[in-house]
Amino acid sequence: MSLEERKIWLEGKLVAWPEVTVHLLSQSVQRGSLVFDVMQVCETARGPAIFGLREHTERFMNSAALNGMELEHDLDALLAAIAEVVRANPGCEIVKISGYYDSISFDVLPANPHVCVAVAAFSIADIAPSGAGERPNARLQIAHPRKMPSSVLSPQIKVAASYTHAAVAKKRARAEGFHDVLFLDEYGNLAESSTQSFFLVTEGLLRSAPTDLVLAGITRRAVIDLARDEGLIIKEEPLPGDLLARAEEAFLTGTSSGVWAVERIDGHELPAPVPGPISSRLIERFARMLEGEDPVFSPRWVQSI
Ligand code: PMP
Repeated sequence: MSLEERKIWLEGKLVAWPEVTVHLLSQSVQRGSLVFDVMQVCETARGPAIFGLREHTERFMNSAALNGMELEHDLDALLAAIAEVVRANPGCEIVKISGYYDSISFDVLPANPHVCVAVAAFSIADIAPSGAGERPNARLQIAHPRKMPSSVLSPQIKVAASYTHAAVAKKRARAEGFHDVLFLDEYGNLAESSTQSFFLVTEGLLRSAPTDLVLAGITRRAVIDLARDEGLIIKEEPLPGDLLARAEEAFLTGTSSGVWAVERIDGHELPAPVPGPISSRLIERFARMLEGEDPVFSPRWVQSI
Protein backbone atom coordinates (compact mmCIF):
# COMPACT_ATOMS: atom_id res chain seq x y z
CA MET A 1 0.00 0.00 0.00
CA SER A 2 1.51 3.38 -0.94
CA LEU A 3 1.41 6.32 1.47
CA GLU A 4 -1.08 8.11 -0.79
CA GLU A 5 -3.50 5.22 -0.30
CA ARG A 6 -3.21 5.22 3.49
CA LYS A 7 -5.79 6.80 5.76
CA ILE A 8 -5.21 8.92 8.85
CA TRP A 9 -7.71 9.13 11.68
CA LEU A 10 -8.26 12.85 12.22
CA GLU A 11 -10.70 14.08 14.83
CA GLY A 12 -13.08 11.14 14.42
CA LYS A 13 -12.87 10.63 10.64
CA LEU A 14 -10.61 8.63 8.34
CA VAL A 15 -9.00 11.11 5.96
CA ALA A 16 -6.80 10.39 2.91
CA TRP A 17 -3.07 10.73 3.82
CA PRO A 18 -2.30 13.68 1.44
CA GLU A 19 -5.22 15.68 2.85
CA VAL A 20 -3.92 15.82 6.42
CA THR A 21 -2.06 19.14 6.49
CA VAL A 22 -1.25 21.82 9.08
CA HIS A 23 -0.67 25.50 8.37
CA LEU A 24 2.91 26.81 8.37
CA LEU A 25 1.99 29.44 10.97
CA SER A 26 0.14 27.09 13.31
CA GLN A 27 1.28 27.27 16.91
CA SER A 28 2.53 23.65 16.96
CA VAL A 29 4.73 24.12 13.87
CA GLN A 30 6.13 27.45 15.09
CA ARG A 31 6.66 26.47 18.74
CA GLY A 32 7.26 22.72 18.52
CA SER A 33 4.36 21.91 20.86
CA LEU A 34 3.09 18.75 19.12
CA VAL A 35 2.95 15.77 21.51
CA PHE A 36 3.08 12.24 20.18
CA ASP A 37 3.62 8.57 20.85
CA VAL A 38 4.68 5.72 18.59
CA MET A 39 3.58 2.09 18.79
CA GLN A 40 4.53 -1.08 16.99
CA VAL A 41 1.94 -3.25 15.28
CA CYS A 42 2.78 -6.97 15.53
CA GLU A 43 1.51 -9.81 13.37
CA THR A 44 0.46 -12.65 15.65
CA ALA A 45 -1.23 -15.97 14.84
CA ARG A 46 -4.43 -14.29 16.07
CA GLY A 47 -4.10 -11.27 13.73
CA PRO A 48 -2.73 -7.75 14.22
CA ALA A 49 -1.90 -6.63 17.74
CA ILE A 50 -0.11 -3.67 19.32
CA PHE A 51 2.75 -3.93 21.77
CA GLY A 52 1.89 -1.88 24.87
CA LEU A 53 -1.24 -0.33 23.32
CA ARG A 54 -2.70 0.92 26.59
CA GLU A 55 0.67 2.03 28.00
CA HIS A 56 1.55 4.04 24.88
CA THR A 57 -1.89 5.64 24.77
CA GLU A 58 -1.74 6.55 28.45
CA ARG A 59 1.77 7.97 27.94
CA PHE A 60 0.42 10.09 25.06
CA MET A 61 -2.30 11.46 27.36
CA ASN A 62 0.33 12.15 30.02
CA SER A 63 2.53 14.01 27.49
CA ALA A 64 -0.47 16.17 26.60
CA ALA A 65 -1.18 16.87 30.28
CA LEU A 66 2.48 17.77 30.98
CA ASN A 67 2.32 20.07 27.94
CA GLY A 68 -0.76 21.85 29.35
CA MET A 69 -3.01 20.49 26.58
CA GLU A 70 -6.60 19.54 27.23
CA LEU A 71 -7.53 16.52 25.13
CA GLU A 72 -11.17 16.18 24.18
CA HIS A 73 -10.87 12.39 23.76
CA ASP A 74 -10.69 9.96 26.67
CA LEU A 75 -8.63 6.76 26.80
CA ASP A 76 -11.39 4.54 25.40
CA ALA A 77 -12.01 6.90 22.47
CA LEU A 78 -8.29 6.96 21.63
CA LEU A 79 -8.02 3.15 21.87
CA ALA A 80 -11.00 2.82 19.51
CA ALA A 81 -9.42 5.33 17.09
CA ILE A 82 -6.17 3.35 17.04
CA ALA A 83 -8.01 0.07 16.36
CA GLU A 84 -9.99 1.74 13.55
CA VAL A 85 -6.94 3.18 11.83
CA VAL A 86 -4.97 -0.10 12.07
CA ARG A 87 -7.87 -1.95 10.42
CA ALA A 88 -8.08 0.73 7.70
CA ASN A 89 -4.36 0.39 6.84
CA PRO A 90 -3.57 -3.27 6.04
CA GLY A 91 0.07 -4.23 6.55
CA CYS A 92 0.83 -1.24 8.79
CA GLU A 93 3.72 -1.70 11.23
CA ILE A 94 3.78 1.61 13.08
CA VAL A 95 1.06 3.74 14.67
CA LYS A 96 1.85 7.36 15.50
CA ILE A 97 -0.61 9.38 17.53
CA SER A 98 -0.19 13.17 17.62
CA GLY A 99 -1.84 16.04 19.51
CA TYR A 100 -1.28 19.59 18.25
CA TYR A 101 -2.62 23.12 18.02
CA ASP A 102 -3.54 23.85 14.41
CA SER A 103 -4.61 27.44 15.04
CA ILE A 104 -2.45 30.21 13.61
CA SER A 105 -0.68 32.15 16.29
CA PHE A 106 1.79 35.01 16.61
CA ASP A 107 2.06 34.69 20.39
CA VAL A 108 3.61 31.70 22.20
CA LEU A 109 0.07 30.72 23.15
CA PRO A 110 -2.22 29.16 20.54
CA ALA A 111 -5.01 31.48 19.36
CA ASN A 112 -7.43 28.60 19.94
CA PRO A 113 -6.72 26.03 22.68
CA HIS A 114 -8.41 23.19 20.77
CA VAL A 115 -6.02 20.21 20.50
CA CYS A 116 -6.34 18.27 17.23
CA VAL A 117 -5.70 14.55 17.55
CA ALA A 118 -4.52 12.49 14.59
CA VAL A 119 -3.51 8.83 14.35
CA ALA A 120 -1.44 7.61 11.38
CA ALA A 121 -0.68 3.94 10.64
CA PHE A 122 1.94 3.01 8.05
CA SER A 123 4.78 0.63 7.33
CA ILE A 124 8.46 1.51 7.55
CA ALA A 125 8.92 0.63 3.86
CA ASP A 126 6.30 3.29 2.98
CA ILE A 127 8.68 5.94 4.31
CA ALA A 128 12.18 4.43 3.97
CA PRO A 129 12.01 1.87 1.13
CA SER A 130 15.72 0.94 1.43
CA GLY A 131 15.72 0.73 5.22
CA ALA A 132 15.30 -3.07 5.50
CA GLY A 133 18.13 -5.60 5.81
CA GLU A 134 20.53 -6.97 8.43
CA ARG A 135 21.01 -4.53 11.29
CA PRO A 136 24.60 -4.09 12.51
CA ASN A 137 25.31 -3.81 16.24
CA ALA A 138 24.93 -0.24 17.48
CA ARG A 139 27.82 2.21 17.69
CA LEU A 140 26.96 5.14 19.94
CA GLN A 141 28.59 8.52 20.35
CA ILE A 142 28.29 10.28 23.70
CA ALA A 143 26.26 13.40 22.91
CA HIS A 144 27.22 16.93 23.79
CA PRO A 145 25.25 18.75 25.15
CA ARG A 146 23.59 16.66 27.87
CA LYS A 147 19.89 15.91 28.22
CA MET A 148 17.69 18.80 29.23
CA PRO A 149 17.60 19.00 33.09
CA SER A 150 14.40 17.40 34.40
CA SER A 151 13.66 20.65 36.29
CA VAL A 152 13.39 22.36 32.86
CA LEU A 153 11.65 19.63 30.87
CA SER A 154 10.23 16.41 32.27
CA PRO A 155 11.90 13.39 30.63
CA GLN A 156 8.38 11.90 30.45
CA ILE A 157 7.05 14.37 27.88
CA LYS A 158 7.20 13.29 24.26
CA VAL A 159 6.96 16.73 22.67
CA ALA A 160 8.46 17.67 19.29
CA ALA A 161 10.58 20.49 20.72
CA SER A 162 12.44 18.13 23.05
CA TYR A 163 13.88 16.20 20.07
CA THR A 164 15.58 19.12 18.30
CA HIS A 165 18.88 18.78 20.15
CA ALA A 166 18.73 14.98 19.63
CA ALA A 167 18.51 15.58 15.88
CA VAL A 168 21.53 17.90 15.92
CA ALA A 169 23.57 15.45 18.02
CA LYS A 170 22.53 12.44 15.92
CA LYS A 171 23.44 14.23 12.69
CA ARG A 172 26.96 14.80 14.03
CA ALA A 173 27.17 11.18 15.28
CA ARG A 174 26.11 9.83 11.86
CA ALA A 175 28.70 12.00 10.09
CA GLU A 176 31.38 10.53 12.37
CA GLY A 177 30.43 6.89 11.71
CA PHE A 178 28.11 6.19 14.66
CA HIS A 179 24.49 5.01 14.47
CA ASP A 180 23.10 7.13 17.28
CA VAL A 181 23.99 9.13 20.37
CA LEU A 182 24.07 8.27 24.04
CA PHE A 183 22.93 11.24 26.12
CA LEU A 184 24.28 11.98 29.56
CA ASP A 185 21.77 13.20 32.13
CA GLU A 186 22.10 16.60 33.78
CA TYR A 187 24.57 15.11 36.35
CA GLY A 188 26.79 13.45 33.72
CA ASN A 189 25.52 9.85 34.09
CA LEU A 190 24.83 7.63 31.06
CA ALA A 191 21.14 8.11 30.29
CA GLU A 192 19.46 7.13 26.98
CA SER A 193 19.84 7.48 23.22
CA SER A 194 17.85 9.87 21.01
CA THR A 195 14.83 7.53 20.97
CA GLN A 196 15.89 4.42 22.94
CA SER A 197 16.42 3.40 26.52
CA PHE A 198 19.88 2.19 27.52
CA PHE A 199 20.99 -0.88 29.51
CA LEU A 200 24.38 -2.06 30.75
CA VAL A 201 25.36 -5.45 32.15
CA THR A 202 28.07 -5.46 34.83
CA GLU A 203 28.94 -8.52 36.97
CA GLY A 204 25.85 -10.22 35.51
CA LEU A 205 23.54 -7.43 36.82
CA LEU A 206 21.30 -5.49 34.46
CA ARG A 207 21.41 -1.72 34.95
CA SER A 208 19.32 1.11 33.52
CA ALA A 209 18.93 4.74 34.54
CA PRO A 210 15.94 5.54 36.81
CA THR A 211 12.82 7.07 35.26
CA ASP A 212 13.16 10.34 37.15
CA LEU A 213 16.06 11.01 34.74
CA VAL A 214 14.99 9.22 31.52
CA LEU A 215 11.78 8.45 29.65
CA ALA A 216 9.85 5.51 31.09
CA GLY A 217 10.32 3.48 27.90
CA ILE A 218 7.62 0.91 27.38
CA THR A 219 10.01 -1.54 25.73
CA ARG A 220 12.35 -0.91 28.69
CA ARG A 221 9.57 -1.90 31.12
CA ALA A 222 8.69 -5.09 29.18
CA VAL A 223 12.37 -6.07 28.88
CA ILE A 224 12.77 -5.61 32.65
CA ASP A 225 9.77 -7.96 33.13
CA LEU A 226 11.37 -10.54 30.83
CA ALA A 227 14.78 -10.16 32.48
CA ARG A 228 13.28 -10.74 35.96
CA ASP A 229 11.60 -13.83 34.59
CA GLU A 230 15.02 -14.97 33.34
CA GLY A 231 16.25 -14.68 36.95
CA LEU A 232 18.30 -11.52 36.37
CA ILE A 233 18.68 -8.78 38.96
CA ILE A 234 17.88 -5.28 37.70
CA LYS A 235 19.19 -2.05 39.20
CA GLU A 236 17.42 1.15 38.19
CA GLU A 237 20.02 3.59 39.45
CA PRO A 238 22.09 6.40 37.91
CA LEU A 239 24.84 4.99 35.64
CA PRO A 240 28.16 6.79 36.20
CA GLY A 241 30.35 6.77 33.09
CA ASP A 242 33.10 4.73 34.79
CA LEU A 243 30.74 1.69 34.73
CA LEU A 244 31.58 1.43 31.03
CA ALA A 245 35.05 0.11 31.81
CA ARG A 246 33.41 -2.81 33.69
CA ALA A 247 30.55 -3.35 31.24
CA GLU A 248 30.14 -6.89 29.97
CA GLU A 249 27.29 -6.00 27.62
CA ALA A 250 25.19 -3.01 26.58
CA PHE A 251 21.97 -2.70 24.61
CA LEU A 252 19.24 -0.25 23.65
CA THR A 253 15.49 -0.83 23.78
CA GLY A 254 12.72 1.03 22.00
CA THR A 255 9.72 0.83 19.72
CA SER A 256 11.84 1.52 16.66
CA SER A 257 14.59 -0.99 17.47
CA GLY A 258 13.27 -3.69 19.86
CA VAL A 259 16.36 -4.87 21.74
CA TRP A 260 19.53 -3.68 19.94
CA ALA A 261 22.98 -4.82 21.06
CA VAL A 262 25.67 -2.11 21.40
CA GLU A 263 29.25 -2.84 20.31
CA ARG A 264 30.91 0.53 20.83
CA ILE A 265 30.40 3.72 22.86
CA ASP A 266 32.72 6.54 21.72
CA GLY A 267 36.16 4.84 21.65
CA HIS A 268 35.14 2.06 24.07
CA GLU A 269 34.53 -1.41 22.53
CA LEU A 270 32.20 -3.75 24.46
CA PRO A 271 33.68 -7.24 24.97
CA ALA A 272 33.04 -9.80 22.21
CA PRO A 273 30.81 -11.51 21.37
CA VAL A 274 28.18 -8.84 20.67
CA PRO A 275 25.36 -9.51 21.37
CA GLY A 276 26.56 -11.13 24.59
CA PRO A 277 24.70 -13.97 26.32
CA ILE A 278 22.24 -11.83 28.31
CA SER A 279 21.46 -9.51 25.37
CA SER A 280 20.94 -12.54 23.10
CA ARG A 281 18.48 -14.11 25.54
CA LEU A 282 16.51 -10.88 25.82
CA ILE A 283 16.55 -10.21 22.05
CA GLU A 284 15.09 -13.67 21.49
CA ARG A 285 12.53 -13.51 24.33
CA PHE A 286 11.35 -10.08 23.26
CA ALA A 287 10.90 -11.17 19.62
CA ARG A 288 8.97 -14.27 20.73
CA MET A 289 6.76 -12.15 22.97
CA LEU A 290 5.89 -9.81 20.07
CA GLU A 291 4.88 -12.82 17.95
CA GLY A 292 2.37 -13.71 20.66
CA GLU A 293 4.31 -16.89 21.57
CA ASP A 294 5.12 -16.14 25.23
CA PRO A 295 2.33 -17.67 27.34
CA VAL A 296 2.82 -15.23 30.24
CA PHE A 297 4.19 -12.03 28.73
CA SER A 298 2.41 -11.92 25.35
CA PRO A 299 -1.06 -11.60 26.93
CA ARG A 300 0.35 -8.95 29.31
CA TRP A 301 2.11 -6.84 26.68
CA VAL A 302 0.65 -7.56 23.23
CA GLN A 303 -2.95 -6.44 22.84
CA SER A 304 -5.03 -7.73 19.93
CA ILE A 305 -6.82 -5.12 17.84
N1 PMP B 1 13.89 7.37 25.28
C1 PMP B 1 13.43 8.35 24.46
C2 PMP B 1 13.95 9.75 24.64
C3 PMP B 1 12.48 8.06 23.46
O1 PMP B 1 12.03 9.02 22.64
C4 PMP B 1 12.03 6.72 23.32
C5 PMP B 1 11.01 6.39 22.26
N2 PMP B 1 9.71 6.59 22.72
C6 PMP B 1 12.54 5.74 24.18
C7 PMP B 1 13.48 6.10 25.16
C8 PMP B 1 12.07 4.31 24.10
O2 PMP B 1 10.74 4.23 24.55
P1 PMP B 1 9.75 3.09 24.04
O3 PMP B 1 10.35 1.80 24.42
O4 PMP B 1 8.49 3.38 24.75
O5 PMP B 1 9.67 3.24 22.55
